[in-house]
Amino acid sequence: MTEIVVAKPTGLCFGVRRAIQRLEDALSTQGVVYALGMPIHNPQEVDRLSRKGALVVEAPSDIPHRSKVFIRAHGISPDVYAELEAKQCEIIDGTCPFVKKAQDHARSLSGEGYHIVIVGDNEHPEVKAIRGCVREEGVSVVGGADEARSIGKYRRIGVISQTTQKEECLAGVAAALVASVDELRVFNTICKATVERQQGIRELARNVDGVIVIGGRNSANTGKLFDIVRSKKTDVMWIEHAEELDGRWLAGKQRIGIAAGASTPDWLIDQLKTALATSQGVKGDGRL
Ligand code: SF4
Repeated sequence: MTEIVVAKPTGLCFGVRRAIQRLEDALSTQGVVYALGMPIHNPQEVDRLSRKGALVVEAPSDIPHRSKVFIRAHGISPDVYAELEAKQCEIIDGTCPFVKKAQDHARSLSGEGYHIVIVGDNEHPEVKAIRGCVREEGVSVVGGADEARSIGKYRRIGVISQTTQKEECLAGVAAALVASVDELRVFNTICKATVERQQGIRELARNVDGVIVIGGRNSANTGKLFDIVRSKKTDVMWIEHAEELDGRWLAGKQRIGIAAGASTPDWLIDQLKTALATSQGVKGDGRL
């Protein structure tokens, strides 16, 4: 009999849960709500919310005047906010308070004349929103220490992080910059939910034969969980939903760990647990 062990903590974080609750409340009382960008980095949950009336659009120009607009946990930049206000939209703000804190640090450091270094993914909506809070020419986005070494010379640098970064990565960037500047200020804006989930999966990876990471393929924090297990040389499979389970991967494993990204809803985790509980007869001959 295979034993299933669930990482602690796992699944939806405070910020995403709060944002989705706000969207659902608005949908239940106010009819159509435009969501600016995917409301959550999980395609199955986006489908569920769309069926309830959420209309996902990519840009403020896609939103009619005086509409109701939901802002996801990643936040938006001040110029996008201003555009929505100019259209007299009613804003349902799901921006996570921890993301707002990172934006505030970036804004104040920039105001004090620091060159801002954001440790994160340049294309991620959270990073784009933070960048929008500072002068365009006064910010660099780096993925790690190597990129940090090549940003050029600045006398004063302020470092902040995308909230879902790995702590080692932020520490590596700070170490790479410290010798080349007069003044370095570092704000650890990695949120506690991220740190706890990363610690939880490290612990899990040590104690199981393989880990199933469940979450959207477009979810940065889910990807980090996957990378952590792989770096521990533990067998790992990344799926978006239970139907992607592969019996061949499960075969022969006595203890299997489950971990979910901070944007994976409870119902997808429950479906996975049920699928695993009913899969005991599978001997490795294909999908469940
Ligand atoms: S991962 Fe952290 S910062 Fe991002 S939404 Fe969740 S609680 Fe907020």
